[in-house]
Amino acid sequence: MAGIYLHIPFCPRRCSYCDFYSTTRLQDRERYVDALIGELALRQKECHERIRTVYLGGGSPSTLETPDLERLFDALLRYYDLEPDAEITIEANPDDLHLQRLKQWKQLPLNRLSVGIQSFDDGELQLLGRRHTAQAARNCIRQARQIGFENISIDLMYGLPSQHADTWNYSIGQALALHTQHISAYHLSYEAGTAMYRKRRQAIDEEQSVAYFLSLRHQLQAAGFEHYEISNFALPGYESRHNSAYWNGTPYLGIGAAAHSYDGNTRSWNVSDIDRYMQSIREGKRPFKSETLTMTDRYNETVMLSLRTAKGIDIQKIDKDKQASLLQKAQTFVQQGLLCQKNNFLILTEKGIFVSDSVIRDLME
Ligand code: SF4
Repeated sequence: MAGIYLHIPFCPRRCSYCDFYSTTRLQDRERYVDALIGELALRQKECHERIRTVYLGGGSPSTLETPDLERLFDALLRYYDLEPDAEITIEANPDDLHLQRLKQWKQLPLNRLSVGIQSFDDGELQLLGRRHTAQAARNCIRQARQIGFENISIDLMYGLPSQHADTWNYSIGQALALHTQHISAYHLSYEAGTAMYRKRRQAIDEEQSVAYFLSLRHQLQAAGFEHYEISNFALPGYESRHNSAYWNGTPYLGIGAAAHSYDGNTRSWNVSDIDRYMQSIREGKRPFKSETLTMTDRYNETVMLSLRTAKGIDIQKIDKDKQASLLQKAQTFVQQGLLCQKNNFLILTEKGIFVSDSVIRDLME
């Protein structure tokens, strides 16, 4: 068990594009942290090795009050053996990252911030329903660096309705000017049931999406970033260790409502309902469902997760029975210039990245 994920499902309000599991009931934060601590205690026996990474994701973990975070870390350190240099990340929204909170966080065992900025254009931020302004985003990153956080990631979003190349390139330039060590960039997805879904007809076309992605990739690579996963760029040595472990198929423990866990054979997921979650943990039971992965499930997951990384699929990690058919299917994509084979690895080419979903689908069983 190399990593622990803690899900914090609170957001003061919903962003217009979001279909993640979250709640606006901030008054439940303290009780919810009690339940997280309860689950950490309950599942201690599932963990037989030192923890290399911890990730607080959401929702908006930065809405937690510092005393609740302190209690959470006390429990984590009490029940689990963390490596001395464990990567400990918290996702944060710029409007929560005021100076006082950053100073308090510096006293906690947190060493990596992942800040959901999305855009440096105020019009785009409004469209996305974000709570912060571009200036607030710049300020919080500068303050975090001054206080001594040396591993900071910024999230950006492209493919917004009628998004202009100028605003996208401006956001990339602003992100680079803040000298963070990691940048993630995701294409907006128009999910049914969200407010953004009504604007799907204004989505930029595929050609523009490709151009925006290429612009991002080339500017970041020119600035020394490595494109180590389809949506993720890092300066050397600053790849997200927690997310890289997911992509390598390393087991992890997911704590909290809607959190997923993986033990190497079985995937399990907690109930996506904070009331049922808290009630069940109070009764000493973990409210979860699970499925044991078949050989085919495991093969499909390896293809899906590893092909998204710059390292690609390690053919030797594929079950012997499936290697021949994988190589045969891959051959067509190699001929089309979408995949290349380097030693024992199958890797997406730059051209292949844009059609990665269909390449992955065809390689899966
Ligand atoms: S902050 Fe994140 S989780 Fe919360 S509503 Fe916005 S996108 Fe969704």
